[in-house]
Amino acid sequence: MDVPKTADVVIIGGGVMGTSTAYHLALKGCPNVLLLERESFFGMQATGRCAGGIRHQFGTEINVRISLLSLPMLDRFEEELGQPIDLRYCGYLFLLTTDQDVAAFRQQVDMQQRLGAQTEWLQPAQIADLAPLVNLDGVLAGTFNAHDGLADPNSVVQGYVSGARRLGARLLNDVDVTGIRVEGGKVQGVITDQGEIAVPVVVNAAGPWAGVVGEMVGVPIPVAPVRRQIAVTGPIPQVPPDFPFVIDFATGLYFHREGQGILTGMANPDQPVSFDQSMDMEWELVHLEEAMQRLPILEQAGLASRWAGLYEVSPDAHPILGRVSEVDGFYCIGGFSGHGFQHGPACGLLLAEEILDGAAHSLDITPLHNERFREGKLIVEYNVV
Ligand SMILES: Cc1cc2nc3c(=O)[nH]c(=O)nc-3n(C[C@H](O)[C@H](O)[C@H](O)COP(=O)(O)OP(=O)(O)OC[C@H]3O[C@@H](n4cnc5c(N)ncnc54)[C@H](O)[C@@H]3O)c2cc1C
Repeated sequence: MDVPKTADVVIIGGGVMGTSTAYHLALKGCPNVLLLERESFFGMQATGRCAGGIRHQFGTEINVRISLLSLPMLDRFEEELGQPIDLRYCGYLFLLTTDQDVAAFRQQVDMQQRLGAQTEWLQPAQIADLAPLVNLDGVLAGTFNAHDGLADPNSVVQGYVSGARRLGARLLNDVDVTGIRVEGGKVQGVITDQGEIAVPVVVNAAGPWAGVVGEMVGVPIPVAPVRRQIAVTGPIPQVPPDFPFVIDFATGLYFHREGQGILTGMANPDQPVSFDQSMDMEWELVHLEEAMQRLPILEQAGLASRWAGLYEVSPDAHPILGRVSEVDGFYCIGGFSGHGFQHGPACGLLLAEEILDGAAHSLDITPLHNERFREGKLIVEYNVV
C-alpha cells in the first residue's frame, strides 16, 4: 500500500504501544488513523523479544492501577478481538533475600491489597510448597499473586493490528519515519523515506527509539535503550504446567515455564546504554550460573534458543504517557522500563482518550506526562526487574 498524503493521527512504531493506540483510537471513532512501522513485521522489537509476563505486583500505586486496568483487558482480549493470546495465570512469585527488600515488599503488599490486587505474603515453608523445584537458600520471605502470569506478546500485537484494520485504520510496514514537521509550535506533518504526510497529531510509540523521535521535534524524551537477554531451554519434563513466574528480586534473575522448558533472564546492572542487540556471551555465563543455583534442575537441560532485546528505560522507571506540552499535537507512549507489554492494552486506551477527549478519564495520567522531568516530579518505582 502506498503511503497516504494525509491522516488525522500518525503513530510512529508498531509494537504493543503503537498497535494498541491505533486500535483504541479507531474504536473510539477516530476516522483516519495511520501507523508506520519501519520493520517488515509488527512487534519485532522490544515487544516481540519480551518475556510475556503480566503482573499486579508493582511498588507504586500508579503502576498497580495501570495493571488493574490492563490485565482485565487481556482477559477479555480473545472475546473482544477474536485473537487467542495464550493467557496463563501461573502467578508471579517474588523471592526476597534482604531485610531491606522484605520491608519494602511488606508495604507494597499492603498497598496492592488496598487497591484490590490479591497479593499474598509467604513464609519460606509456603514457598517450598508452591515451588518445590526452587532452591530457597537465603530466602527470607516471598510474595505471590495467583492472578499474575503470562500472555503471548506477538498474538496481542496481531490482535490489535487486525482489530484496528477492521475498524478502518491503516497500519503499514517498511516505512521509516525520518522527521516531523513542526511550525509555530504545532505538528504539521511526518516525513518518511517514502514521502511526507500532512497530519496534526503524531504519537511517539517508538519504544527504545522514543528519544530519537523526540529529537525530531526538538524535545528531550528521556528514554534510554538498554540491552537485556533471554535464554530458553529444551524440554524439562519435571517442570509442572502451573510452575510460577519466579523472580529472585535481589539479583534480578527470573524464570518461568516456556513450552516444555524454562525461559530465563537476568539484568546486567552494568549494561551500558546502547542500541546493541547482539548477545553478550560472558553475561550469559554469569546469568546461567545464577539460574542453576536457584533452579538446579536447569543443569539437566540444553539451551534451545537465546536472544537479546532493548528495555526502554526512563529516569524513574515509569512510562512517559500523554501530551508533550512543548509541541501542540505531539504525544508520547514510551519509557516503560522493561514492563510495558502488560501495560500496552491500558495505555493505548488511555492515550486514545487523551487525544480524542482532551484528557484520559479511565485513569489520571497527568503524573506520567513528560513534563515531570523538567519539573523534578519523578515517581520512584522500587520493583523493577
Ligand atoms: C528481554 C526483555 C524482556 C521483557 N519482559 C517483559 C515482561 O515480561 N513483561 C512486560 O510487561 N514487559 C517486558 N518487557 C518490556 C516490553 O517488551 C516493552 O516495555 C514493550 O514491548 C514496549 O513496547 P513498545 O511498543 O513501546 O516498543 P517496541 O515493541 O520496541 O515497538 C517500537 C517500534 O517502533 C519502531 N520504530 C522506531 N523508530 C521508528 C521510526 N523512526 N520509524 C518507524 N518505526 C520506528 C520499531 O521498529 C519498533 O517496532 C521486556 C523487554 C525485553 C527487552
